Amino acid sequence: MSPDLSVILPVLNEADIIEKSLEVVRGQIERTNKTYELIVVDDGSTDSTPAKLEAASVADPRVRVVPLSRNFGKESAMAAGLDAARGRAVLLMDADLQHPPELIPKMVALWDAGNDVVSAVKEQRDRESLLYRLMASIFNVAMGGAAGKSFRGASDFKLLDRQVVDALAACPERSRFFRGLVTWVGFKTAELPFTVQERIGGNTKWSIWGLIRYSIKNLIAFSALPLKLVASLGFITLVFSAGLAAQTLYRYLAGQAVTGFTTVILLQLILGGLLLTSVGVLSLYVAEIYEEVKRRPVFVVKRARAADATKTAKDAAQDSDLNG
Ligand code: UDP
Ligand code: MG
Repeated sequence: MSPDLSVILPVLNEADIIEKSLEVVRGQIERTNKTYELIVVDDGSTDSTPAKLEAASVADPRVRVVPLSRNFGKESAMAAGLDAARGRAVLLMDADLQHPPELIPKMVALWDAGNDVVSAVKEQRDRESLLYRLMASIFNVAMGGAAGKSFRGASDFKLLDRQVVDALAACPERSRFFRGLVTWVGFKTAELPFTVQERIGGNTKWSIWGLIRYSIKNLIAFSALPLKLVASLGFITLVFSAGLAAQTLYRYLAGQAVTGFTTVILLQLILGGLLLTSVGVLSLYVAEIYEEVKRRPVFVVKRARAADATKTAKDAAQDSDLNG
């Protein structure tokens, strides 16, 4: 039988903190009185994390470990977790306690109240370095422009109703940007502010280069905006060239031009303008091809939330056992 809640933790080399994390997270889930499974995706850890996870899953069958064959990155680890999750709702959070587990009961309550997506939004980032914050704002502004929605403070700390998880699974693109996709699929969304906690053990897995690569990759994976910018630049240059060409011709006809220069200037403008415009037209087609190859659904239909109505008598009995 599927549990009410699947909690997914992507984990890479968190041996210092994973036992404590599991304990705190479990404590908070238990406050919700929901049946649950705790899915820990081991993203190719090379320290003693796998052994610790193994021990945790032996001690409690509700802890399920999904071991990846190597380090695939957090996005892939989250995708693996979503794939393994069986819950009627799925909650994703970092395994380093930087996403405060105290929020779990509140997020579940918002889900119970009929929200399909509950997004925890980072309130202040004082705990993170200046460079990190600067990078994050540049990225969030660019992504926001690309997705037509603010990404300020957006995090991967989210609760998703089953129908949202199914909608995400129907987006088959391989280069996945979780936060962006959740925005794209829509559904009734609630936001909950939180303060990023200090890491109490282990290290961040991000280097500055890693962050830059991640930002560029996600921007490109999620948006054709850079391509469309190239097209706009081409057309703007063409208009500008036309103006300049008119001025050059006028000077030639008015006898103000140095002999021979008119031809050179006009040739430059015509060739430059044509080249840039052609690249612009090509980039528009590439942008269109890019949208097509992602093969996202053309639309996503909402399902009525009939969870309680469809509950079997056995589920109800089990629930009252848990509550009692
Ligand atoms: N993580 C992962 N795979 C990776 C990098 C990170 O599963 O390749 C996990 C990590 O164990 C943690 C979460 O993703 O649970 C967030 O990583 P981290 O704390 O390093 O990021 P930060 O909080 O510094 O942005
Ligand atoms: Mg962290």
